[in-house]
Amino acid sequence: MNLDRLADALAAQLPTGVVQRDVPVSDLTTYRLGGPVAVVARVSDDAALGVVAATLAQLGAPPPPLLVVGRGSNLLVADRGFPGLGVVLAGDFESVDVEPGRSRVRAGAATPLPVLARRAAAGGLAGLEFFVGIPGSVGGAVRMNAGGHGRETREVLHRAWVLDLLAGDATPSARDVADLDLSYRHSGLRAGQVVTRAEFHATPDDPTACAARVDEIVRWRREHQPGGSNAGSVFRNPTGDSAGRLIDAAGLKGLRVGGAVVSEKHANFFQAEPGASADDVARLVAEVQARVDGATGIHLVPELELVGFDDPRLP
Ligand SMILES: Cc1cc2nc3c(=O)[nH]c(=O)nc-3n(C[C@H](O)[C@H](O)[C@H](O)COP(=O)(O)OP(=O)(O)OC[C@H]3O[C@@H](n4cnc5c(N)ncnc54)[C@H](O)[C@@H]3O)c2cc1C
Repeated sequence: MNLDRLADALAAQLPTGVVQRDVPVSDLTTYRLGGPVAVVARVSDDAALGVVAATLAQLGAPPPPLLVVGRGSNLLVADRGFPGLGVVLAGDFESVDVEPGRSRVRAGAATPLPVLARRAAAGGLAGLEFFVGIPGSVGGAVRMNAGGHGRETREVLHRAWVLDLLAGDATPSARDVADLDLSYRHSGLRAGQVVTRAEFHATPDDPTACAARVDEIVRWRREHQPGGSNAGSVFRNPTGDSAGRLIDAAGLKGLRVGGAVVSEKHANFFQAEPGASADDVARLVAEVQARVDGATGIHLVPELELVGFDDPRLP
């Protein structure tokens, strides 16, 4: 699809500033690396998202490459950028509604997970505390079945609303958690299927006790994980083991490619130092994968999503 035509068609129907060209993906991701996204639509309500879906349907096949960007905390986008449409949710999609009486929390997909955790805790609802340590969005958590501290999104999710940009959906429809095919860092959602909202179940509890658990998780994260530019765990844990342990045991802490380095604090976190490129990180991912494979015979699979790379040697 011709991206100029797409950008013009979207800009003609959406408020000024919603559609942008050549947006540096470094502004949209925690790695703060990578080239431009050719067209970005920053949509703030269901109607605007419906306009994007209708426009894609009008312009016809083939659709452009699509990338929904949440907090960009699990993405590594190539230095040459992303030659397609990036969709970023804002506005209405950032609302949080805590209903202690119904033990339910509803949140827009753009809500940062730490905000969700703290709002639920302050409202006296327990069970969502683990989200405070994950710097993604509600939509990203559903898409990735994010988890930590012994819990996963699928355990606390009741349902999510999804709009399929490639099916021309006018409005999002609700899907029960059982229909989302959630498993370890996986969902059945495809590119173009945008999570717009989610409803979580929680358990009434004393707000002070909830806040104490939130604080404990924050303390644990600060003690065990590095700050700086990274996207959390690079590899999935193989069954019965930990990717960080395998990388550490292979002696790879501190391994460097250009400005990308395996963290000394947590071996499954790869830091981007000032001046690093996305290519440095991608090559470090491939190097660590090959060395762990060579040392143990275990082929680590990335949890990090690499976008826009065309080098077949990369994972
Ligand atoms: C310091 C640090 C610690 C982390 N710790 C953890 C952890 O403990 N556990 C864990 O699971 N992850 C962890 N992560 C990884 C990351 O935060 C999660 O994968 C998170 O769920 C990604 O959310 P996001 O909004 O940033 O998604 P993005 O990185 O923006 O996108 C990830 C994927 O989700 C899709 N997506 C995003 N929003 C939507 C939406 N609204 N609808 C449909 N698809 C969407 C994207 O298209 C992409 O495929 C960590 C990351 C960092 C930087």
